[in-house]
Amino acid sequence: MISNNIKEIESLIKLISKLPGLGSKSAKRIVLKLINNREELIKPLTNTLAQVYKNVIRCTNCGNLKSINTQCICLSKSYDQICVVENIADMWVVESTGIYKGHYHILGGTLPSFDGKNNKNGLLIDSLINRVKKNSVKEVIIATSASVEGETTSHYIADSLKDTKIKITRLAKGVPVGGEIEFLDDGTLFSAFKNRAPISKD
Ligand SMILES: [Zn+2]
Repeated sequence: MISNNIKEIESLIKLISKLPGLGSKSAKRIVLKLINNREELIKPLTNTLAQVYKNVIRCTNCGNLKSINTQCICLSKSYDQICVVENIADMWVVESTGIYKGHYHILGGTLPSFDGKNNKNGLLIDSLINRVKKNSVKEVIIATSASVEGETTSHYIADSLKDTKIKITRLAKGVPVGGEIEFLDDGTLFSAFKNRAPISKD
């Protein structure tokens, strides 16, 4: 061993390698960049991470991120459309297309394709049903992925709302099978949204 064995650096490299899209090589480059910019990067990053850890949580009602001290937007006013997505990345992608301006509901995943109804493992499905009924929502747009699990989840939601008069739509079939919303290009997503079709409630 020629260089000093610094355990702080090693654990930082290990942590950064866990981030999406980064292997140990890029993690090392990032760590070097940080080390060489202690005041401009390490200090503010340390503070910001601590703030995010302390103050940002997921709303247990709609699944969105919120600041711990403020009321979530889902409680603030009435609305007549809810777009249901699997995760926050999906919501950001839909937002970036600009086609939809209404409220979101972030499930936190999908039901398993098998025995889905008895296995809601932490998904915000009951709170979705409550939100829809309480806010006199007119349309629920289901934007789960075009996978078996996404379909299972979509049908379960439609089924749970079948005794209501609410319109339930699903993104158009333009979404490739297995397609996760997060990875669709803007054009595909835009047309899937525009051509969304009602789900039959049977
Ligand atoms: Zn909320």
